[in-house]
Amino acid sequence: MIRKLLLLPLLLPLAACVRNPVTGEKQLSLISTQDEIAIGQQAAKDVQQSIGLLKDPQAQQYVANVGMPMARKSERPELPWSFQVVDDPTVNAFALPGGPIFATRGLLTHLNSEAELAAVLGHEIGHVTARHSVSQLSKAQLAQLGLGVGMIIEPDLAKYGGLAMAGLQLLFLKYGRDAERQSDELGFRYMLEQGYDVREMEDVFRTLDRVGEAGGSGRLPSWLSTHPNPEDRLEWTRARVAQLGRNLEQLRVAQPEYLRMLQGMAYGQNPRQGFFRGNLFLHPELRFQLEFPQGWQTANQPQAVLGASPNQDAVVGLGTLGGGLSPEQALQQFFAQQGVRALEAPVAGLPPATRYFEAQTEQGVLRGLTSFISWQGGTFQLIGYTVAEQLSHYEPAFRATFTSFRELTDPAVLAVQPARLELVTLEQAMTLEQFQSRYPSTIPLAELALINGMQPGDTLAAGRMVKRVTGGTPTSPR
Ligand SMILES: [Zn+2]
Repeated sequence: MIRKLLLLPLLLPLAACVRNPVTGEKQLSLISTQDEIAIGQQAAKDVQQSIGLLKDPQAQQYVANVGMPMARKSERPELPWSFQVVDDPTVNAFALPGGPIFATRGLLTHLNSEAELAAVLGHEIGHVTARHSVSQLSKAQLAQLGLGVGMIIEPDLAKYGGLAMAGLQLLFLKYGRDAERQSDELGFRYMLEQGYDVREMEDVFRTLDRVGEAGGSGRLPSWLSTHPNPEDRLEWTRARVAQLGRNLEQLRVAQPEYLRMLQGMAYGQNPRQGFFRGNLFLHPELRFQLEFPQGWQTANQPQAVLGASPNQDAVVGLGTLGGGLSPEQALQQFFAQQGVRALEAPVAGLPPATRYFEAQTEQGVLRGLTSFISWQGGTFQLIGYTVAEQLSHYEPAFRATFTSFRELTDPAVLAVQPARLELVTLEQAMTLEQFQSRYPSTIPLAELALINGMQPGDTLAAGRMVKRVTGGTPTSPR
């Protein structure tokens, strides 16, 4: 987000030769398995902090139960595999080096069977077993990921502005076409070994294709933009299934089990976790509002809400702190960080635990204003910073944002709810249109068809479980 402030440390790890677990070929790799795991674990932490896990133990367990057996029978069973769902409405899944695999809530709400989920997870496992991300990492990225290189900036300050989120860069890796094909091939095999109906892989590509056509990419890189054409993959899957030359009827699809797991899951954006109305940030759960400067680019993350100046050379935002410190203690801790010192200038008109500061970083000297406040039984940090010479320029904007923090009292905003999935078991056959008029959804027919893996004119068989979307309060789009 604030690229202009971000420079790379220059230390590089040494190259080493490792045997590729899938192909058996020796390949030049910059990193050992141990480092691969360390990078992945650090990046996984970044993902958890910046995107946040879905608070739904049942869904988390379900996804792990599907992914883990495939991983344990893969070429790299000894890795510390994990399968988790992040609370993000975009349709996406991604693998990090050494074992962490993530699926989004948006992916889950768009799939329609356990076998489809297995197809996506199997593909992501393939990226890890074939060491795609590791061989893709550039030297610069490796350096930025901080392999024993040291943090770019101390963690407490770095949390804001995405400075510490180097691990998230991993999400933007593009694998080559050959790597994707290899992962499809591996995923296909892992699925089949667990007795899943591999034909369901075709449905996944069909759904992804339609999601792509419907647009709506979010802040995460979409599975589509980083993957080859779903049409080609569909063709490939069909050919591969035909080659099997066996009866697939007994293989596991597990549609009802999968759909039952989705009952009540939030669909689309969840406004309770905070949303923007123009440059005004509203957080119904934590009952506060905060106004960002006009024209700044904003981002809502679980631990911080941030704005970046149009020139990308200043950041202002609010973060939550763990640990139950008072504002004064939190301020002390802030200045206990190496390279961070208070500036002498007095601060008027802001809460007592407010100071100007200067931070010595890899990016040069940053200067800013920070304020610690108590709110809803916790301590929050307001922070604004920029390159040292720009502080006087941005100081009024920082102040205006800080003083805009207040209690959210609008009852309509406090009561806002996400839309949710509800599963209906049909007693009789009907068309999707008939279903929509009998069990109205708060989404259009085309979208309803998409999330059910159907076409608008299709007829639904009796006994089938069908998704509908209920509730949700419209919030103005960003
Ligand atoms: Zn892939």
